[in-house]
Amino acid sequence: MLYFLIYIPIFAEKLHGNQAMNATVTSVLLIYTGGTIGMIENAQTGALENFNFDKLQEYIPEIQNFKFPIDAYQFDPPMDSSNMEPEIWRELVRIIHRNYERYTGFVILHGTDTMAYTASALSFMLEGLEKPVILTGSQLPIGVLRTDGKENLMASIEIAAAQDENGKPSVPEVCIFFESHLMRGNRTTKMNAENFNAFRSFNYPVLAKAGIHIKYYEGQILRNKEKRILKPHYLLDTNVAVLKLFPGIQENVVDAILNIKGIKAIVLETYGTGNAPQKEWFLNKLCQASAKGIVIVNITQCNAGTVDMERYETGYRLLQAGVVCGYDSTTESAVTKLMFLIGHGYSPEEVRKRMNHSIAGEISV
Ligand code: ASP
Repeated sequence: MLYFLIYIPIFAEKLHGNQAMNATVTSVLLIYTGGTIGMIENAQTGALENFNFDKLQEYIPEIQNFKFPIDAYQFDPPMDSSNMEPEIWRELVRIIHRNYERYTGFVILHGTDTMAYTASALSFMLEGLEKPVILTGSQLPIGVLRTDGKENLMASIEIAAAQDENGKPSVPEVCIFFESHLMRGNRTTKMNAENFNAFRSFNYPVLAKAGIHIKYYEGQILRNKEKRILKPHYLLDTNVAVLKLFPGIQENVVDAILNIKGIKAIVLETYGTGNAPQKEWFLNKLCQASAKGIVIVNITQCNAGTVDMERYETGYRLLQAGVVCGYDSTTESAVTKLMFLIGHGYSPEEVRKRMNHSIAGEISV
């Protein structure tokens, strides 16, 4: 599918002239990729349809109350995030890089289904980020009376523009804002398909909470020690697979995954603290795959907690088979980190080493 990008200086020109051109003035760039947040209900059929982003003001007139310019990019047609592809992540990185000096912060409106993957990928691709990149969306379309989209959007814009008393961005990270919670993007998982609290960061505390005031938890926020220049990365290799264990998993299933043509890395979703069956055929196959240069990363199927492969014999055997620890990583983060590392051409040994270090606060080691 081909997507076009439409630039809409909707709010900036109408409300504030061309101030967004001036980097010293607070300004926010909204990038609308699609998802439920950008939908309205067709009055006749009741079906959800995409609506033109430049109509946003009709649905959220309060947006005009922001005292700073907001420009927007719209993907045309807007995409359901189940169609998300690494090529779109590259496009998002390109947009942010090209506009980096012009805006105080960025808000990406995105479908909820793959938002955690996009947030994780961007956290690795935007090295040296010193400005907020806030992803948000909604469970109910903006055109529906009880929508959660309005609050999510308004708070995300406020956070993207927020600066401390020294003029430094309050949250210089790729984040997801949902239902009053600002979370580190690469720690977040979609965990509810029904309720407004669709996302959770199980293994890392929230970065901010929106109540009457937006309260930032400084101790949790990642900051570069020295001033850094944004270094965008575009290289991703998608030869990655996920193998989720379950009792009764058959040899031919494991075989098929480990022998996928061109496969370079596997996220192995294990039990509890990183445990797996001790069947000889299983461990031998993992051992052979590792020896062939396939990087296998151990992630727990549990939502919260960390892999500790030295805790039980079952985990230890995996370590001996060459499997590397994924610590408390989400699957979304492990998959995109592997795409990123393999894409940069590192050897399997180097990828294994780098999986043990945090790039953007994605694991606790
Ligand atoms: N299927 C939609 C999407 O991810 C769901 C949503 O936006 O919440 O694009």
